[in-house]
Amino acid sequence: MKTSHLAELQNEPACAHNAKEKSGCARPKPGATAGGCSFDGAQIALLPIADVAHIVHGPIACAGASWDNRGSRSSGPTLYKIGMTTDLSEQDVIMGRGEKRLFHAIAQAVTTYSPAAVFVYVTCVTALIGDDVEAVCKAAQQHCGVPVIPVDCAGFYGTKNLGNRIAGEAMLTHVIGTREPPPVPEHAQRPGIRVHDISLIGEYNIAGEFWHVAPLFDELGLRILSTLSGDARFHEVQTMHRAEASMVVCAKALLNVARGIEERFGVPYFEGSFYGVADMSQALRAFADLIDDDDLRARTDILIAREEARANAALAPWRERLRGRRVLLYTGGVKSWSIVSALQDLGMEVVATGTKKSTEEDKARIRELMGENARMIDDGSPKALLTAYKDYRADVLIAGGRNLYTALKARIPFLDINQEREFGYAGYAGMSELARQLALTIDSPVWTAVRKAPPWAAATVRNTPRALG
Ligand code: SF4
Repeated sequence: MKTSHLAELQNEPACAHNAKEKSGCARPKPGATAGGCSFDGAQIALLPIADVAHIVHGPIACAGASWDNRGSRSSGPTLYKIGMTTDLSEQDVIMGRGEKRLFHAIAQAVTTYSPAAVFVYVTCVTALIGDDVEAVCKAAQQHCGVPVIPVDCAGFYGTKNLGNRIAGEAMLTHVIGTREPPPVPEHAQRPGIRVHDISLIGEYNIAGEFWHVAPLFDELGLRILSTLSGDARFHEVQTMHRAEASMVVCAKALLNVARGIEERFGVPYFEGSFYGVADMSQALRAFADLIDDDDLRARTDILIAREEARANAALAPWRERLRGRRVLLYTGGVKSWSIVSALQDLGMEVVATGTKKSTEEDKARIRELMGENARMIDDGSPKALLTAYKDYRADVLIAGGRNLYTALKARIPFLDINQEREFGYAGYAGMSELARQLALTIDSPVWTAVRKAPPWAAATVRNTPRALG
């Protein structure tokens, strides 16, 4: 990729901290993990497209280190779960066999799995040796008769976040706008209800959580043309330009896609969240407002009233158990504020929240929710987290999976909130699941048991001979 193109991608006018200095590779700090590279970010953003063959063009380690690290679920094809790589060796690099191997890998993937499309991810090695991946993709597309999309995302281009943008840019350039959506099927038509098409950008269906939300859209007559990219299919992504409104579910990743679709096809968008009762209702209202349909607005209000009443009834016993409990939250992006609002809704007190991966807008929302003196933590190292936990007298640490062992070693209650988690927290139903998981971890008897001195230590004290005289 040309340096000028990379600079363009780093300049995202819709992003609140666009004015800040642009970073290349993230500089690792001692004691902290460096986080993913651009390739990792691009793959994470696109991997949930379930019927695509995702081929990593590079040494085996790139694919091995990043494969399937997001718990996105699919309601149909599972092709995205199969790790594919050209597995370049030193010999291939020396002998210049990279392009040939890639062509054969694409042909093999198409013959074996008949994918809807093939995505090819460029990595550091294949970018450095100058493989013309775009030309190979073109030739393979002609040969196989299946769309072959190059994603030029070598790890050294920069951060994981830049990789998200590169992935979005690849979709805008090669995929979105290349097919028209099918007509609304007969069974989805209801008398008196006009069906509107929408799309969701940055929704990844972690642990199947979007399935809590999708039936509500169906009920309102909002047809989801595509999500980018949870439980998505290639042909759905192609039609996203025909949505009447889009929602950016994760504020940081893929904002360029929402802006690009708005600029090229005139589709308005808003940023929102499905976490917490209030934000879920707000997201539904925002669609009705953006589409500007009075009938939809009225039906949305009725649905919200019903769902909120149901959710409040289901949450009542959990609120009782969780009221006043103190939370240390360390996550990034949209979750740094949307989860705060969900926890406050449960009557819990968020003593501090992590903002390392949050935009300026995310931080403004945190201040709105937690007050001007909101404690924001930028340092996510184990030592800093445990110190904050102790200083702020927290009852539970809510963070990403990589902090799991920090919490277990310190013998403190922990809840995984990031992409690897096993439970879906989106929507009204997801809120009950969040409350249940929180209560289970905070009140688990295991914490008292593991904090006690082990029986053999007590026995040693009893048996120690005392000095006489
Ligand atoms: S793309 Fe580069 S930085 Fe990323 S995993 Fe591969 S070698 Fe490492």
